[in-house]
Amino acid sequence: MTTIPVIRTVTALRDVLRDARRTERTIGCVPTMGALHAGHLALASQARAECDVVVATIFVNPTQFNDARDLAAYPRTEASDAAQLAGVGVHVVFAPGPEEMYPAGFSTTVDVGQVAEPLEGAARGAVHFRGVATVVTKLLNIVQPDRAYFGQKDAQQVLVIKRLVRDLDIPVQVVVCPTVREADGLALSSRNARLTPEARRSALGLSAALFTMRDHIAAGERHVPTLLQHGFAVLAQHGIAADHVDYLAITDRDTLHPLDHITQGALIAVAAHVHGVRLIDNILVDVSSLTAPGRQ
Ligand code: AMP
Repeated sequence: MTTIPVIRTVTALRDVLRDARRTERTIGCVPTMGALHAGHLALASQARAECDVVVATIFVNPTQFNDARDLAAYPRTEASDAAQLAGVGVHVVFAPGPEEMYPAGFSTTVDVGQVAEPLEGAARGAVHFRGVATVVTKLLNIVQPDRAYFGQKDAQQVLVIKRLVRDLDIPVQVVVCPTVREADGLALSSRNARLTPEARRSALGLSAALFTMRDHIAAGERHVPTLLQHGFAVLAQHGIAADHVDYLAITDRDTLHPLDHITQGALIAVAAHVHGVRLIDNILVDVSSLTAPGRQ
């Protein structure tokens, strides 16, 4: 079995990367919270294909959890994560403890403003994206990669990270990779490990709702409230009642402003609690590619 170094401190990581930086090899960074699945490994593989040196980070960031039970229940599988990362050619794992990332006296946070407010921001509170933005800023400063890889699965997180990279002039290219799904459509998530077989069947409702809404758009429906009704119906068919849905929304793909009517591209995003497990999913729809020729 291939093994790779698992580095715990910022100083040790800087030492390991010094040579790569001096010789101008490109560095890729793949931030994760561990409990890896094929979605994470797709990011790592793409990083490996595009960069000379790849650092994957594993850090279950306490400051982005709005719910202490969710943090406590978050799966942790570091040894097998490191082995899987080695298997796809990642060179170094950076897995700091919370005291390395947030030493005594830590008090600076990053707030990106508007794009962090709706959807996940509204459902989980400002603390969530403040935690994400702060930890990603730190990781980008620690690793100083040329490219950093994120999944479209977390669509709003991508917008938050692009915003902070632009606003804070962080010299990194943000690379967004498509959502990896199970054959039946369920988006891969570390939280899927907590689904019972029955919950797994319900969880399929999220992607099914998104795909149904996309089909209605392809068939010509443009009225957002009607599309949302179709989506909620599919969720209900899977046993996900409306009061378990944090949001089902159709928004502008860049600003996340809600849309009334679908024009060009749109983001359809959903978050729901399925048998006690909070899951999210989204798709981007491009009206021009969905609509049959000659149809408005
Ligand atoms: P996490 O460990 O959940 O923080 O995710 C780490 C990175 O993997 C984030 O950029 C996620 O968007 C990405 N990711 C998570 N699930 C998937 C998936 N199913 N497909 C592609 N990327 C994913």
